[in-house]
Amino acid sequence: IWETDADGLYTYASPIAEEIFGYTLEEIVGKKHFYDLFHPEDREELKKKAFEIFAKKESFHGFKNRNVHKNGETVWLLTSGTPVLDEKGHLSGYRGVDMDITRREKAEKRLRLLSSVVEQSTEGMALAGLDGGLMFVNKAFASMHGYTPEELRGKNLSVFHSPDQMPFVEAANRQIKKTGEFNGEIWHVRRDGTLFPTWMHNTLLRDATGRPVGLIGILRDITERKKMEQSQRLTQLGQLIADIAHEVNNPLMIISGNTQLALMENAGNEALKKYLGTIFDQAQRAKDIILRVLKYSRPGKAERRRSNINMSVDIAVSLVEHEYAVQGVIIDRKFAQGLLPVFIDEKGIQEVLLTLLTNAFEAMPGGGVIDVSTSHGKGLVKVNIKDTGEGMSKEILERIFEPFFTTKDKGTGLGIPICQTIVKENDGDLKLASAPGKGTTATILLPVYKKEGGQ
Ligand code: ADP
Ligand code: MG
Repeated sequence: IWETDADGLYTYASPIAEEIFGYTLEEIVGKKHFYDLFHPEDREELKKKAFEIFAKKESFHGFKNRNVHKNGETVWLLTSGTPVLDEKGHLSGYRGVDMDITRREKAEKRLRLLSSVVEQSTEGMALAGLDGGLMFVNKAFASMHGYTPEELRGKNLSVFHSPDQMPFVEAANRQIKKTGEFNGEIWHVRRDGTLFPTWMHNTLLRDATGRPVGLIGILRDITERKKMEQSQRLTQLGQLIADIAHEVNNPLMIISGNTQLALMENAGNEALKKYLGTIFDQAQRAKDIILRVLKYSRPGKAERRRSNINMSVDIAVSLVEHEYAVQGVIIDRKFAQGLLPVFIDEKGIQEVLLTLLTNAFEAMPGGGVIDVSTSHGKGLVKVNIKDTGEGMSKEILERIFEPFFTTKDKGTGLGIPICQTIVKENDGDLKLASAPGKGTTATILLPVYKKEGGQ
């Protein structure tokens, strides 16, 4: 309880003021104006407002003002006052009551902060009664299900569950009842009926006496995470398939090579020739399958590593040379020694090599020689695949990078465009030179591996 003169100087303060402001009554009464205790940031504005009321000699209620305690801490007051007038009706001062609302203000501020944390969180948060009736959801929770928070008010948790998810939901509920919490994957239904996976944390909400009164749910949409995991698994699977294919190819080559030798040495034995012929044909079939597998076992993002190009070329050539030899096309390797390493996606580059070898082979229906060579360029490593086939006219050569351009009956016209894409992905280039009737040379250019750049 306080009293001031017309200038706002305290003429009386009740003892509790010492506790509220930290000053003794002697330091306040006759020494301080009410505005001296205002927070410096608000002082001028609050003072102006107060004296406007003084000028009209009005009483006031619930005037909220920020003050500073002697120890520097903020003190919030709610002030009410009435004017004191002399016999002539002149203002001689004010008298009134201050209420300390600092704790209430702090609690409100904390609540506002907490609620903005909840509102701005990207995790979905929901509060439901034990009957599943929603009491609160934040924006993230509502929007991941395709609703606004208002639309979900009063709805039951069951709207997020499809019938075939119910066994999982019931298991989760049993666990919450038993242990007070649940963590795990639960699928939810959006407003439009589509399903999405969530990672859910559920805890039992208890009142002050420990009695369960509701359910707190915090959940995250894990669609993206699951997609990533799946593509990682596919990449691993692709790698595994490619590894197996490479491993199986070696014994297969020995089988067909030896079968051919046996065939040549037993040319007179018709019965044996029949059996060996079957073995050879089936070995060829298995090799075709492996070639196809190697071509398609490149799912997802290619992984590049430091690599010796001679190795890749050797593998690609050995995959096809026996098959080509049988049809009169010989592959001649000329590998440069001491080549600098390249930074490549080995499976991709192998696909390129196999495609270019196939093109060369198909250009020589009457047989011939394919020269496969590696060499150095300036900061580059080159692979040349040179055939002595039919070659290409200028018109054809101009169009070979077009997708679906082909001159073959059963061609796709995708070989060279795909090769070009893969080589570019490896920061390299693909060039084709050709003269009709003389043959074609395909050249793959790849930059040498530089340590610092990682390429
Ligand atoms: P596809 O082989 O399915 O036709 P490609 O993109 O691999 O598709 O090749 C496109 C065309 O380029 C071929 O149809 C052919 O006319 C020509 N070509 C490619 N490589 C050679 C080559 N080594 N010799 C002659 N022509 C070639
Ligand atoms: Mg082709």
